[in-house]
Formats: sequence, C-alpha cells, structure tokens
Amino acid sequence: MTSDKDEKRRKKRMATLVTQAGRAPFEHFGFVNPPVYRGSTVLFPTVADLEGLNQPYTYGTKGTPTTRALETAWSEIAGADDTVLVPSGLAAIALALLTVARAGAHLLVTDSAYGPTRSFCDGFLKRFGVTTQYYDPLIGAGVSALIREETTAVLVESPGSQSMEVQDVPAIAAASHEKGVCVVIDNTWATPLLFPPHAHGCDLAIEAGTKYLSGHSDILLGLVSANAGWAKRLRHTFNLFAIGASPDDASLALRGMRTMALRLREQERAALELARWLTERPEVARVLHPALPDNPGHDIWKRDFYGSSGVFSIILKPVSKEAVSAFVEALELFGIGFSWGGYESLALPFDCAPYRTATRWTPEGPAVRFSIGIEDVEDLKDDLAAGLARLRP
Ligand SMILES: *Cc1c(COP(=O)(O)O)cnc(C)c1O
Repeated sequence: MTSDKDEKRRKKRMATLVTQAGRAPFEHFGFVNPPVYRGSTVLFPTVADLEGLNQPYTYGTKGTPTTRALETAWSEIAGADDTVLVPSGLAAIALALLTVARAGAHLLVTDSAYGPTRSFCDGFLKRFGVTTQYYDPLIGAGVSALIREETTAVLVESPGSQSMEVQDVPAIAAASHEKGVCVVIDNTWATPLLFPPHAHGCDLAIEAGTKYLSGHSDILLGLVSANAGWAKRLRHTFNLFAIGASPDDASLALRGMRTMALRLREQERAALELARWLTERPEVARVLHPALPDNPGHDIWKRDFYGSSGVFSIILKPVSKEAVSAFVEALELFGIGFSWGGYESLALPFDCAPYRTATRWTPEGPAVRFSIGIEDVEDLKDDLAAGLARLRP
C-alpha cells in the first residue's frame, strides 16, 4: 500500500523517466534522439575482434543502437533486468511462452487471457506436447491447488483486456514461486507506468508496444522484459529465433514513449469520466472499469495499481445484435476495429462466452469495449449519447 504522497512522487518520476530513458545524445553528435540504424552486417577491425566478438554490436539480429536504446529504456521503466523487442505483441506472447515451455510441460493460463494467447497455446504449443489449463482469473492464491509437478508457468493478464477482472498477481506469484513456477504477465492494459510487473512478482512481462507505447496506431511492436532470474533464458530464446523488431519501429516507439505518461494521464481522466457517466445511462446494465467499486477485483486494483488506462467495457441491457451494431455504427468519433491504446477512440462489440472454459461469461446483455483516445471528453460524451439513443425503441 502506498501513500498519496509516494504515489504522486512515483508518477512524477515516471513522467520524467519516459523523457530521459534510452537517450545518449553525445554518442550521436548531440542530437536529442537516437538515430535509426539500419543494418545487417557489422564490421570488425580485425579477425581477432570478430572471433572474440569484442564490440557492443556484432550482427543486425542481435540489435542496433536504436533497438538497444528502447530495450534499455523499457528495462528501466519496467524495473527489469533485460528487455527484448519483437515485431508484435502476439510475437511477445509466443516468445515468452516458448521461453517457459518444454515437451510435457503444463501451463496455467487465465480464462480472461487475450484470445490469440489461447490460440497459440491450443493451436501451436499443444502439438509439441505442452498442455494448457485455463483457470478462473479471480482464483488468487488458490492457483496453488492447480499447480502440478510438470507445471512450468502461470500466465496472468490483469485486468483481462475485455472482461476487466483484476487478478491478485502478488498472491498468484507467491503461490507459483513457492513451487518453482515462472510467472508471466500480459501487462498491456496497465503498462509498467500503472503496474510495475516485476516489483509485483512477475518473472516475464509482455507488453504489446502496439498499444500505449506507440500511442498512434501506426506500428506493431512487442516487448518482453525479464527479472534477474529469467533474463538470460529470455535473451537466449530470443537469439535462437532472431525475431527482433525493426529499428524504424523501435524509433517510432521511442518517439511514442516520450509522451506516454502524458497520454495515459489524459486517457485515464477521460475514460473514468465516461465510465462514471455511462453507469447513469438507462441503456447500460453495468460498466466494467477496474477503478469502479463493483468491478471484479476492484480492491486489488486499488491496492496494486497506480491508476487506470483508457480501456473499459460496458454491458448493455438486453437488446438485439442489430441494435448493438446500430449503436456502434452511429458513433462518429469512435472507430470500429481491433487493437487500442492509440490517440483515437475505438468501440468493439465482444462476447467472451464462446471461448471461456474455466468460467462462464453470462452478462445481462451484449458487451462493448471502448478505448478512449485524446479527443475532447464532452465531444465523446455527446457522441455516445447520440449512439445510445439508437438503442431505445
Ligand atoms: C493487442 C494485444 C496483444 C497483441 O498485440 P499485437 O501487437 O496486436 O500483436 C496482446 N495482448 C493484449 C492484451 C492485447 O490487447
């Protein structure tokens, strides 16, 4: 539990850190930002240097000053020992899971996980003899009872990026570590600015840099960070695949990172205002937002998080699928599409029922997820009000 004063100081430090991390102007003739180094071959002055790999960069797949700048910055921000960059958030999930998987292994994955995480486990890892068992996101320390001899990792995602259950990550981490099991988090919703993953006991942390880090819906990027116990194994697996992100994307992500704290603060404010406003609307049965008292796991959110981001969901009172489409299509400021975390608002109808296996998703009516951008909040409210009016007979 942190005091208000501690929290304010930490937020301020983060705002400063995102402007400073990963910069070394005097290594680049004084230019503020690290340049984009594109390259495959790196030359060595002598054969002995080549054989000894006696320099910071040795080949394009092992990184460039541009990608290293982002890796270093992210390790500082996430409180990690090391970070690797891959070409998408889903590639980050795959890399993290391949770091912990082996033939015969058993994985525990939260039932609220990002859909493609399930597909990777069930559609790919299964073929190599890895079994995935899904668990109730609200299980907390109870995960201990599900851990088997062959369990190698527990994956958490808090909150679930559609259904918004907040997980007791410290309790899950303690129960897992007691049995020598690795804890992997998909921390995309909160980012390390709102939930420092390694300080809360996670060994590997995934971030879809596509979302809040980039902030502009113009790149795909994934990051996996690791604590001291897992950094070497992560880097080793990464090197075997050689699936690094491009320096151009790393450069764009660094540019996004500089304004990340600022954007998140505004998106938090606007999303909370809209979430509270939506709780009062007659068309809405429930609002799923971790900062609202009746959200599953709200007390844990209050204990562990430094704030909320701009993504939340609503459950509408029962209406037809056509009515939901009419509502979403009537919105002028909210785009209809996948992904989130950009400067522009999005709305996405969703249904968790078809893929849940450990828990049942039985909301009162259809669900819609919003990603709140940085438009004027009163404009967004007017837009939602006009859209919701379509739901009334
Ligand atoms: C979008 C997303 C990802 C995947 O990111 P991509 O870059 O789109 O592959 C992973 N996890 C969560 C929670 C996401 O929302």
